[in-house]
Amino acid sequence: MELEKEETYGIVIIGGGICGLATALALHRKGIASLVLEKSETLRADGAAIGIHVNGWRVLEQLGVAAELRETANVITAHHDMWLQGNKSTRAPIRNELRCLKRKDLMETLAKNIPAEAIRFGCHIVDIHEDPGTHGAVLTSADGSTIRVKVLIGCDGTSSVVAKYLGLSAPKAIPRTVLRGFTRYPHGHPFEPEFLRLRGEDFFLGRLPITDDVVHFFVTTPPSTGAVTDDVNAVKDLMLEKLMKTCPAEVADMVRDSEAGSLNVVTRVMYRPPWQVAFSAFQKGAVTVAGDAMHAMGPFIGQGGSAGLEDAVVLARALSRADSGGGTGRRGLEPRDDEKMTTAAIGVYVTERRPRVTMLSLECFVMGTLLRAKSLVTKLACVSMLVLLGSKSLRHTNYDCGRL
Ligand SMILES: Cc1cc2nc3c(=O)[nH]c(=O)nc-3n(C[C@H](O)[C@H](O)[C@H](O)COP(=O)(O)OP(=O)(O)OC[C@H]3O[C@@H](n4cnc5c(N)ncnc54)[C@H](O)[C@@H]3O)c2cc1C
Repeated sequence: MELEKEETYGIVIIGGGICGLATALALHRKGIASLVLEKSETLRADGAAIGIHVNGWRVLEQLGVAAELRETANVITAHHDMWLQGNKSTRAPIRNELRCLKRKDLMETLAKNIPAEAIRFGCHIVDIHEDPGTHGAVLTSADGSTIRVKVLIGCDGTSSVVAKYLGLSAPKAIPRTVLRGFTRYPHGHPFEPEFLRLRGEDFFLGRLPITDDVVHFFVTTPPSTGAVTDDVNAVKDLMLEKLMKTCPAEVADMVRDSEAGSLNVVTRVMYRPPWQVAFSAFQKGAVTVAGDAMHAMGPFIGQGGSAGLEDAVVLARALSRADSGGGTGRRGLEPRDDEKMTTAAIGVYVTERRPRVTMLSLECFVMGTLLRAKSLVTKLACVSMLVLLGSKSLRHTNYDCGRL
């Protein structure tokens, strides 16, 4: 009978999504090795594209990949809001950098800058428990093998096993169907470099040009309008039926002509309420969470991905300071001092990130509540709150998490 394998590592990141890869790259840039464990067999880039505002670009610069990624996406210079009922339309400039990246481009660029052996695909962690001797964590993967780790970072998204180990509540879900994808225009698309936000009676559509010939779109409907399946073709047909009734032809054509392979459906939007983000224990010794595992916030202000990128820089910076003082075990300190320094570094990370991600989660929560509100009082309360938060001027994007 084959013996079950057991390995030991310094820093392990569970989850090879945007946040996990960015964290591994940030650590790598600081000369610190880590191992990413990803349950998929290949890089996952579900969701077609992602809007990255100036705060995210600042992080990509620190990671040394901004120049390359800028080549893949044009700048978006304005919000164009349209209300089909009332036939109203407004435009507002976006003063700071916003580009819509193909998720595949972002993930591949992050991954190719990390040593190949630092990402292990097909490794699904199913259980975590504390090692009573070392106070590190012991991970069990689906094939029964175990990995002992000194520092564990959960970048494993909304169903995080690490969040569960830390005792965090499961994120909440808003039933909402979202169809996302690209459309390619072989002779170039006719659209301005604008983020179109089109509101119909029972749908909301967003359109962001990526390049001169590729456009990203998303369409969402409330659950009451019947879109409860996650079958891509069925959802596309249902959305098209709605769009064709009321939208300009170019909008329905864009969805009809979308690339089949790019389409993706979400039926529940997951979020951690702002009070949980403000008060939850995001650390247990040298174990912590980052990205959606820490602060899932849904798509309402388009900041979940960039907030995960910020986490990566702040966490790697804190760990590298501990490392230069001996904390991640490379400088030959006594194990107990080593453990203390690493634990303190993670404490610094959690303390620095908490106010930032609480405010983002709050803004997202209020925006999500406004979009679903029926009562005038709730709508007024949400609008007032968003004014205070500087939502219209995109104050949340003008944030700099600092140098790596
Ligand atoms: C409709 C929609 C639109 C959005 N638009 C934007 C936008 O425009 N801009 C923006 O910034 N954000 C946006 N977001 C949010 C953004 O997509 C997320 O915040 C971001 O992708 C989260 O990245 P992550 O790496 O934290 O988690 P994930 O992308 O969920 O990655 C987690 C990874 O962990 C792996 N994993 C999970 N469990 C395990 C396990 N037990 N063992 C091993 N591996 C595991 C998964 O396979 C996955 O690869 C949007 C979200 C939605 C739903």
